[in-house]
Amino acid sequence: MSAFHSDKIQVGISACLLGEKVRFDGGHKRSEFVENDLRRYFTYLPVCPEVAIGLGVPRKAIRLVRRDDNIRVEASDGSIDVTEKLTAFSKAKTAQFDFLSGYIFCAKSPSCGMERVRVYTNEGAAKEGVGLYARILMEQNPLLPVEEDGRLCDPILRENFVTRVYAYHDWQQLQATGLTRGKIISFHSRYKYLLFAHHPSSYSLLGKLLGDSVSMPLDQLAERYISGLMQGLKNKATRKGHTNVLQHLQGYFKKTLSLEQKAELHHLIDKYRRGLVPLMSPMTLIQHYLREYPNPYLSSQVYLNPHPEDLALRYSL
Ligand code: SF4
Repeated sequence: MSAFHSDKIQVGISACLLGEKVRFDGGHKRSEFVENDLRRYFTYLPVCPEVAIGLGVPRKAIRLVRRDDNIRVEASDGSIDVTEKLTAFSKAKTAQFDFLSGYIFCAKSPSCGMERVRVYTNEGAAKEGVGLYARILMEQNPLLPVEEDGRLCDPILRENFVTRVYAYHDWQQLQATGLTRGKIISFHSRYKYLLFAHHPSSYSLLGKLLGDSVSMPLDQLAERYISGLMQGLKNKATRKGHTNVLQHLQGYFKKTLSLEQKAELHHLIDKYRRGLVPLMSPMTLIQHYLREYPNPYLSSQVYLNPHPEDLALRYSL
């Protein structure tokens, strides 16, 4: 069983990224990757928190302002303060997001920005804030994979986000069937090499958690497990991490490949390690050998197929 399911996955998104003209100046921030690529697999829930609390389009620009120890959300000319209204909306709205498997924010916004949002003081502005809606959403949904439109232009961050969305969706689907200790253990087994590529020590820690969990209540185990998995996957899978995993996968064909085939695979993994070919090259050969010499355990590994192939996310890794 792979982590990839054909059902569309539900992902929340800042409405302006879908081309909705909801920005303060009547414009939008349509993202091609979101619209053209991800839309084939994701069903979007668009939200514009500023429009939702009754601010019109166009409207006065709002911004984060530090007042003593508080961060307020105010119009640039100080004429309105929407902190309470936006907080109430954000709490109520994001408390209903259990069904989402990811969220894409519009960067820099005082409402939707995930990080490095300008916070104004009398002395000037520093990029140290988080949009109010985004902050509340992340606090209320700590497991939910989140990312910003600008960061999605980076191939590694883009692949990492989509991997996390699929992994979380996979977990949600497992949860819907009713969790058991055995199901969590076999889920962990399928994620072995994916987690290994991202953060090997998370794999060991979670294995230990499962091994020591006999007396732990199931809901507590599930919460600790998925929280550890999502945290581990947040680490970027480096070329070194992928090379390590590829070498492990190569080991499964020790007895089946001819000397020539082994040398070819070894050579390709080494070329990947040196940055001469993309990850897809050795992966394609491994997939080919796996079809020729089936191995159910290896086929069950999410690492081989973490997201739809035609998103081509591994071509740039
Ligand atoms: S960034 Fe958020 S609040 Fe601003 S226009 Fe886009 S969806 Fe609306």
